[in-house]
Amino acid sequence: MAQKLTPRSVDDSAWYTDVVQTAELADYSPVRGCMVIRPYGYAIWEIMQQYLDQRFKATKHQPAYFPIFIPQSFIQKEAEHIEGFAPQLAVVTHGGGEKLEEPLIVRPTSETIINAMYAKWIRSYRDLPVLYYQWCNIVRWEMRTRLFLRTMEFLWHEGHTAHATAKEAMEEVLLILEIYRKLSEEELAMPVIPGRKSESEKFAGADATWTIEAMMGNRWALQAGTSHFLGQHFAKVFNIQFLDEQNQLQMVWQTSWAVTTRLVGALVMVHGDDQGLRLPPRMAPIQVVVVPIWKSDEERSQVMPLVERITGELGKHVRLHVDDRPDLTPGFKFNDWELRGVPLRLELGPKDVQKGQVVLARRDLPAKQNKSAVALDGLLPEVQRLLGDIQRNLYEQALRFREENTYYPATYEEFAEAVSKGFAIAHWCGSAECEKKMTEDTKATIRCIPMQQDGKAGHCIICGNEAKEKAVFARSF
Ligand SMILES: [Zn+2]
Repeated sequence: MAQKLTPRSVDDSAWYTDVVQTAELADYSPVRGCMVIRPYGYAIWEIMQQYLDQRFKATKHQPAYFPIFIPQSFIQKEAEHIEGFAPQLAVVTHGGGEKLEEPLIVRPTSETIINAMYAKWIRSYRDLPVLYYQWCNIVRWEMRTRLFLRTMEFLWHEGHTAHATAKEAMEEVLLILEIYRKLSEEELAMPVIPGRKSESEKFAGADATWTIEAMMGNRWALQAGTSHFLGQHFAKVFNIQFLDEQNQLQMVWQTSWAVTTRLVGALVMVHGDDQGLRLPPRMAPIQVVVVPIWKSDEERSQVMPLVERITGELGKHVRLHVDDRPDLTPGFKFNDWELRGVPLRLELGPKDVQKGQVVLARRDLPAKQNKSAVALDGLLPEVQRLLGDIQRNLYEQALRFREENTYYPATYEEFAEAVSKGFAIAHWCGSAECEKKMTEDTKATIRCIPMQQDGKAGHCIICGNEAKEKAVFARSF
């Protein structure tokens, strides 16, 4: 029998860890707080990487690579930046058996080392914009960790751009946010709310942070990607200047942005069920798993040639895997691939061969509603249609779930109740005191001030003063 998962309804957190480990996405490492990403989990990350790489390059961004070590003095240059990151830094004090003259920081993010280089490279308006990004690992010392969602070391890309004007930099922030929104909604089938972070939640050293926020299956929020408008904070401390067209010295305007391997955890959290993972087809390393069914050598010799023909035809168009492990029953294999979230299973036995058909089983629908027999002629278009349907259905299920668990409280009492059950959307006056009180009272935070507002003024849900904008409030990871 396959390993039993803790039911989601019993303990969401134990369920999550069970799924991540038994589906072989990741495992705990001998180093506390770090995780090992296993090939199946890494394959999902690679699909995200490929998607993003294409979009970044299509919008004229260039990949580069900067060192993992940052001189301690660099990190200390920007006051807010060091204040924000100081508690999480890993510091190298010795190298080659000797004490270092200046300690090195293992990068918690690379603004400082990259901007030190930009100061050297950027001279004139002709050098702008600079649109670089890098794929790398990041270390932020964490005590309370959770596979993918919060670990001491994780993988990401970080974009760092420099522009001649604030307007161009702001356009860049929103261009990237839109790429992240599309990745989340169209590829991960995960609806998100794009918006601005409050002052207290923004990136340490940014003028403003833009985010996409998603609701996980336990009704908490997950910050799924961020795009920062850095203004001229780093330009000033690293002295990144250029001569404009009038030959005047100007400071650059900057952005930085990232999504991380936590998105793999988000996929589990948003779509998973008691049987395990459910992957949207566009994110699935295996979109179709073929399970040949036979009891005797004779049956095997009927089934396998057809399996080969089908894999030859479908394999060019979909990511496909044939499970021909001889010593396992079909039932075991079905459970195994359900656990791993493969969107579509193709079953093929001797009876199907006689009828010229296969049986297709969808992962996104409950058992008994999820199977259909499909004639071999026209199999490919039917497989493609079903994959498209599964992708849409998972998105719609997630959206419905978010809508069912989003509240519009009228009083602070209702509000406190709402954030214990899901998202609350309410007016906020913008004051940090209100935000702090709310967090102390409810453990929720302001996830974002959504870009889409209805334009109606109202009263702050916390203090009752006039408020122009609504915010999304929730517990979060
Ligand atoms: Zn208020």
